[in-house]
Amino acid sequence: MGTMAQPVILTIDDDPAVSRAVARDIRRRYGDRYRVVRADSGSGGLDALREIKLRGERVAVLLADYRMPEMNGIQFLEAAMDLFPAARRVLLTAYADTDAAIDAINVVDLDHYLLKPWHPPEEKLYPVVDTLLEAWAASPDQASDEIRVVGHRWSAPSFAVRDFLARNLVPYRWLLTDDPEGGRLLAAAGADATDVPLVVTPDGKALVAPTEAELAAVAGLTVAPAADFYDLVVVGGGPAGLGAAVYGASEGLRTVLVERRATGGQAGQSSRIENYLGFPDGVSGAQLTDRARRQALKFGAELLSTREVVGLESAGAARLLHFGDGSTIAAHTVVLATGVSYRVLDAPGLADLTGLGVFYGAASTEAPSCVDQDVWIVGGANSAGQAAVHFSRYASRVHLLIRGADLTASMSSYLIQQLERNDRIVVHPHTEVVGGAGDGHLERLRLRDTRSGDVREVDASWLFIFIGAEPRTEWLDGVLARDERGFIVAGPDLTAGGRKPPGWTLARDPYHLESSLPGVFAAGDVRASSVKRVASAVGEGAMAVSLVHRYLEAQ
Ligand SMILES: Cc1cc2nc3c(=O)[nH]c(=O)nc-3n(C[C@H](O)[C@H](O)[C@H](O)COP(=O)(O)OP(=O)(O)OC[C@H]3O[C@@H](n4cnc5c(N)ncnc54)[C@H](O)[C@@H]3O)c2cc1C
Repeated sequence: MGTMAQPVILTIDDDPAVSRAVARDIRRRYGDRYRVVRADSGSGGLDALREIKLRGERVAVLLADYRMPEMNGIQFLEAAMDLFPAARRVLLTAYADTDAAIDAINVVDLDHYLLKPWHPPEEKLYPVVDTLLEAWAASPDQASDEIRVVGHRWSAPSFAVRDFLARNLVPYRWLLTDDPEGGRLLAAAGADATDVPLVVTPDGKALVAPTEAELAAVAGLTVAPAADFYDLVVVGGGPAGLGAAVYGASEGLRTVLVERRATGGQAGQSSRIENYLGFPDGVSGAQLTDRARRQALKFGAELLSTREVVGLESAGAARLLHFGDGSTIAAHTVVLATGVSYRVLDAPGLADLTGLGVFYGAASTEAPSCVDQDVWIVGGANSAGQAAVHFSRYASRVHLLIRGADLTASMSSYLIQQLERNDRIVVHPHTEVVGGAGDGHLERLRLRDTRSGDVREVDASWLFIFIGAEPRTEWLDGVLARDERGFIVAGPDLTAGGRKPPGWTLARDPYHLESSLPGVFAAGDVRASSVKRVASAVGEGAMAVSLVHRYLEAQ
């Protein structure tokens, strides 16, 4: 982000000669510290102020002529107050209009009125403006050089925007529509509360309900490949894909990584990974992702965000990948590292409340909103345990709902111990969620005792679901071998029983991570019988690249 822009002094006069003269005098004394903006009508002045607001800049002083057609100076200052309440206000008046100016002191909380002409400025203008600038500096408007998101507290599209920015590690400021600054930004963008989420960029562009691709562009993420042919295309930006990109690019392969949402994958959602080698104090998924991204970029890999791969085919020796928008990208080799996605909890009422109190995964952007409230988490694996620990720092109580009798079969013992030591976390064994309800956001959950079948209802505003995951590989149907659950079968698993996989024409057997389509490898959670761990995903990404080299050498 750039350096903070200079605050603005805005002058308005409909008489061009007077307008120039005021601006000239102001600029002469303040031009090195303030940006002097000139307008020749009230509406022109308001347009300029709206633009300044969207850019996140500050306005220190407004100097408006009283007598102007259409909108007089008082009306202008009144409207300007809605956008920049902290700006100091001066009315320029002719002697005959002093009564109006005095009235304006009450109407628009005028700081000063100046009689025209103001010469010499050293005596009549500068002392006034000096005092006002001093007063303004003591309580300036808030400046902002970051992305601002205006939205509703309970709104799935607003949540999606924040989640996307957070996952891509893009800093932003979150403002509610009924927050005064949120209202000012909506007004400046000519939008209203039904147009949210409104995203305002640091350079003042306002986007109403942007798509993820638009957001990616705003956040400076790359969305289009620079070339149309690569040595290696990596599909998926989780640990396995990032690992493959780092090793591929560092070993001189022209490498592009394609990610449908945000890099980091499941690991990016983890609040604290404690068992990854080299991080004795744990590392958050966001930190690990940020470092891996930078490492991949440093070695020259291209990283594309918000691009979903929907098809794969062979074109002679090349492998062709199709994007959702119909475009394609080709390469000698492919590493499929598409991981797994959360399984959906199929209970009545929950689908409609997804993003409105019901979330899949940790949704860590929401944690600060759960302060002093009860949080409900479904799942008995490590991911649910980590989330329980994380949310317990904010929530008054965290309820962990599990179907089994205890956690020993599904969670690491270090996490079980952390849960036991934490008196804000309550584990509810033999419990499943059978329904949810609420008007506009989650308000109640129906819980069933799996032993007795009894159903009870509890008040609940926050439900986070971690009930396992499945690969989303339907787009590979008929292209390469997958097991009955959709995981990609690779390497020795393909030749179990001593036979070559169907369609395999090469004399050699598939390499270790190679799929049934030569030159296409699988790494990480998406591979059948893989270990579902960050370290093994990264390791398989690295290993896939060494097999890519072997494949290319044999070509
Ligand atoms: C909350 C949580 C906590 C965890 N904690 C730990 C832990 O402490 N220790 C540990 O070792 N493991 C942990 N895990 C497991 C670990 O995160 C995973 O094993 C690891 O992320 C798998 O990496 P991956 O690259 O194979 O797949 P993923 O991380 O699933 O990444 C796959 C990526 O591919 C993208 N993608 C999918 N399909 C497409 C497509 N068609 N086109 C483009 N992109 C696509 C996805 O958007 C995703 O970003 C945790 C998991 C979760 C969910």
